[in-house]
Amino acid sequence: MAYDYDLFVIGAGSGGLAASKRAASYGAKVAIAEGDLVGGTCVIRGCVPKKLMVYASKFSHLYEDAVGYGWSKVESSFDWQKLVTAVDNEVMRLNQLHINFLEKAGVELIKSRATLLDPHTVEVDGRKITADKILIAVGGEAVKPNVPGAEYTVTSRGMFHLQEQPKHLVVIGAGYIAVEFACIMHGLGSQVSLMIRTDRILKGFDDDVRSGIQDAMTQHGINIICNSEAKKFEKVSEGIKITFSEKGKDTESTITADAVLVAIGRAPNLAELGLEKAGVETIFCEDEEMPRLHGYSVNCAITVDEYSRTSQPNIFAVGDCTNRINLTPVAIGEGRAFADTEFGNNSRIFSHQDVASAVFSQPEAASVGISEAEARQKLGDAVKTYRARFRPMFHSFTGADEKVTVKLVVDGNTDRVLGAHMVGENAAEIIQGIAIAVKMGATKKDFDATVGIHPSTAEEFVTLR
Ligand code: FAD
Repeated sequence: MAYDYDLFVIGAGSGGLAASKRAASYGAKVAIAEGDLVGGTCVIRGCVPKKLMVYASKFSHLYEDAVGYGWSKVESSFDWQKLVTAVDNEVMRLNQLHINFLEKAGVELIKSRATLLDPHTVEVDGRKITADKILIAVGGEAVKPNVPGAEYTVTSRGMFHLQEQPKHLVVIGAGYIAVEFACIMHGLGSQVSLMIRTDRILKGFDDDVRSGIQDAMTQHGINIICNSEAKKFEKVSEGIKITFSEKGKDTESTITADAVLVAIGRAPNLAELGLEKAGVETIFCEDEEMPRLHGYSVNCAITVDEYSRTSQPNIFAVGDCTNRINLTPVAIGEGRAFADTEFGNNSRIFSHQDVASAVFSQPEAASVGISEAEARQKLGDAVKTYRARFRPMFHSFTGADEKVTVKLVVDGNTDRVLGAHMVGENAAEIIQGIAIAVKMGATKKDFDATVGIHPSTAEEFVTLR
C-alpha cells in the first residue's frame, strides 16, 4: 500500500526534530506536526531560556565577590522586563532556526496538532494523512496539585512570562526544576521560599549532592520549608495565600507570596492523542516505583522496547512521553537511534547507562553514574567512596563560606568508578569530561594515574585518597 509519507512525526521537540532530520537524510519522505513553536520544551520553555536566566542570576553574587578582589562596591539594579524580553527574542530566533533546519533537511513541517486515527493514519487540521511509520515525540507538561486555588499558581512554562518580578516567590517542589528556579529568582533579587514534602531536595541524587546544594541554598537565604504540603491557594490583596500542612503538626500554617511556582512533576502529553484508536499501550507510573532521577513521578507513559517500538509494530515513541530518562540529549539520542535503525540500515539501541546530568542551581551540581546509596544497595560493603569538601580558591578573598564537594563511588571488587558527583562552580562542564571516563569503564587507578591541571577544582577528582 502506498502511504503519503514514509515517516510521520508527532511533536517537533528534541526527539522529534532529531529523528525526522536523521530519517530524511536517508532519503525517507518525512513530515512533522507541531502544535506550538518549533523546538519543544527544551528550546522554547525549558533548558535554553532557563540557562539564560541562570546566567542573569549569577551577576549579583559576582558583584559581591568582586569587592574582596579590590573592586569598589557595584551599585546596580535589575530590569526584569529587559531580561524576559531578551530571553523571548532568543527563543523566537531559535524557533525560526529550527524551522530552517527542517526545511534544509527536506522535512515537511505541518504547524498543527496531530491525533492518531488508526496505526497508519493521523488527523491534522481535519486532513487525514497516512504514513508507513509513525513516531510519537509529544513530550510532557507540568502538572498542578489537585487542591483548591491551583489556578492561581504558575508552572515553569509561566515563569518565563511573569509580567513583574515577584518580590516574594514560593516554589513548591523538590526536583531539579524547582531547585533551579528557586536559585535563579533568589539570584535576581526575589525573596524565595521553597516548600518540599520531605526534609531533602533532589530525591535520587547522591546524598552529598542533595545536602551540598540544600545547605548552600539555606546559607544564601532561601527559606526551605521542609515536610510540608500545600492544601489551598487563595487570592488575597497581598498576593496568593498558601495554606499548608506540616508533618507532625495538627494545625495548618499559611504563607503569602506575590507568585507561586509549582514544580511537583510532569506528565506525558497523551490526552486526546488517539493512542487507543492506534492500539498503542501505556503504562501507569506510581511515585514510589519511579526513583529514577529524571522520571516523571505521576501519570502514565507510552510503553516501548529498547528500540523505542510501541505495542503497535509500526509506531514508535521517544523522549519524555516514554518516561525513561527525561533529558534533552536522551530524547535526541533515542530519536537518532530510531531513525538509524528504521531508515539507515544501522540497527542500534540507545544506551541509557551512565547518562550525566546537572542541576543548574547555585552552587551548580552534576553527576554521572550511580549514587553511593544505589551502589550500596547493589554491592553492599564492597563499595568504596572518596570524597573531598573544601573552599574553592576563588573564594579566598570573597569572604563567602562557599564549599565544593567532589566524590567518587567505586566498586571495591573491580576498582571501577561507578559514579562521580560534584557540587560547585562549573560542575556540569567538569562532570561532562569525567562522564567519558566513567562510560569507558575507568578504574580509580586510571583516575589516580591522570595528572591534574593545577590550580583547578577539577584536579581534585584525580587526587582523591
Ligand atoms: P518536547 O521537547 O517536550 O517536545 C514535544 C513537542 O510535541 C512539543 O513541542 C509539543 O508542543 C508537541 N506536541 C505535543 N502534543 C502534540 C500533538 N498532539 N501534535 C503536535 N505536536 C504536539 N533537559 C536537559 O537535558 N537539560 C536541562 O537543563 C533541562 N532543563 C529543563 C527545564 C525545564 C523548566 C523543563 C520543563 C525541562 C527541562 N529539561 C531539561 C527537559 C527537556 O526539556 C526534555 O527532556 C526534552 O525537551 C524532551 O524532549 P521531547 O522531544 O521528548 O519533548
